[in-house]
Amino acid sequence: MKFKAVRVFEEEGRFIPRIIERSMEDLPAGDVVIRVAYSSLNYKDALSCTGNRGVTREYPHTPGIDASGVVVESTDSQIQVGEEVIVTGYDLGMNTDGGFGEYIRVPASWVVRKPEGISLKEAMIYGTAGFTAALSVYELVEVVKPEAGPVLVIGAAGGVGSHSVKFLVKLGYEVVGVVGSEAEREFVLSLGARDTISREEADDKSGKPMLKQLWAGVVDTVGGNPLSIGIRSTKYGGVVTTCGNVAGGGIPEMNVYPFILRGVRLIGIDSVKCPVGKRVDVWKRLSDSWKGENLDRGVLEVGIEEILEKVKKMLNSELVGRVLLKH
Ligand code: NDP
Repeated sequence: MKFKAVRVFEEEGRFIPRIIERSMEDLPAGDVVIRVAYSSLNYKDALSCTGNRGVTREYPHTPGIDASGVVVESTDSQIQVGEEVIVTGYDLGMNTDGGFGEYIRVPASWVVRKPEGISLKEAMIYGTAGFTAALSVYELVEVVKPEAGPVLVIGAAGGVGSHSVKFLVKLGYEVVGVVGSEAEREFVLSLGARDTISREEADDKSGKPMLKQLWAGVVDTVGGNPLSIGIRSTKYGGVVTTCGNVAGGGIPEMNVYPFILRGVRLIGIDSVKCPVGKRVDVWKRLSDSWKGENLDRGVLEVGIEEILEKVKKMLNSELVGRVLLKH
C-alpha cells in the first residue's frame, strides 16, 4: 500500500523537501502503525526540513514531531487497532519518520490514548507547544496558588507562552505577560492576561543579586536574561519553570541567593522524554478542566501540498498563528 509523505533529501549539500509516495515497508521498525489524521507545524519541523543536524542527523527523512490518528496495526496488547491516539516528542519527526507522512510506525511506549474530551484535531492544536505549556503550568500550580499573587509569563505571545497564559487564566491566576510589541500586547490581553509589560520594562540593569519581589511564579519560555530577572524577582517560596532558550542558553547575573534566601524553586521542563504517567495525566487535564473555549481560533488547517510553503513562511518569520496539517 502506498501513502503520501513529505521527504527531505540531501542532494549535493542541499536539503530539498518533496512530497512523495512511500510504502509501509519503508517505515521504521516499531510496535504500532498509526494512520495519521493531523500533525502540526513546529519550529523544529521547519529546521528538520532544512537539514539542521541538531534536529535530524540522517537524510532522507520525514519531519513532523506531533501526530494524532488511528491505530491500524499493533503488536502491543495494551494498544488496540481502531484506537485514537496521540504521539508527541521522543524521537518522532527527528530521526524517526514523523507526522508529515500519512502513516507512522512507532514504539508502543510513545503512544498516548487520546482522552475523550478532545478530538484528534484539538490534540494537534495543542501539539508539543500546548503540551509543554501544560507541563510548565502543571509544575507551577502544584506549589503556587492563585491567591499568592500574579504569575509572570515570559514570551507570552509565543506558542508555549500563549497556551500557558490561557491555562493559568482558566485556573484563576492573575497573569502578566512579557511581550515584544503592541500587537503582541493586544493578543496576550485577548487571552485573558490581567496586564502585559514590555521587554524593556521587564529588564534590569542594576545586576543586584535579588530584585523586588513581584511574582508568585514565573513561566519562562525564553531563557537568558529574562529568566535571570524572573528568578531574582520571584516572591518568597515561589516557583519558576523554564523550557526554552530563544533569548539565550545562559542565565546571566544568576546567583544562589533567590534559592537559599527566598526558597525559590527553578523547575526545568522537558516535553520530549516526559514520563508516560505524567504525559497521560497532563493530556487528561488538557481534555477537561484546562480546556478553553475557541481552541481553533487563529489555527490554519492545510493539506500536505501546502505544508512546505508554510515551512518557508515559518523560517522567514512570516507565519502568524498555528498551522495544522490534515492528512
Ligand atoms: P515561539 O517562537 O512561538 O515563541 C517565543 C516567544 O518568545 C515569542 O513570542 C518571542 O517574541 C518571545 N521572545 C523572543 N526573544 C525574547 C526575549 N529576549 N525576551 C522575551 N521574549 C522573547 O516559540 P515557542 O513558544 O514554540 O517555544 C519557546 C521555546 O521553548 C523555544 O526555545 C523552544 O525551543 C522551546 N521548547 C521547549 C520544549 C521543551 O520540551 N523543553 C518544547 C517546545 C518548545 P517575538 O515573536 O516578538 O520575537
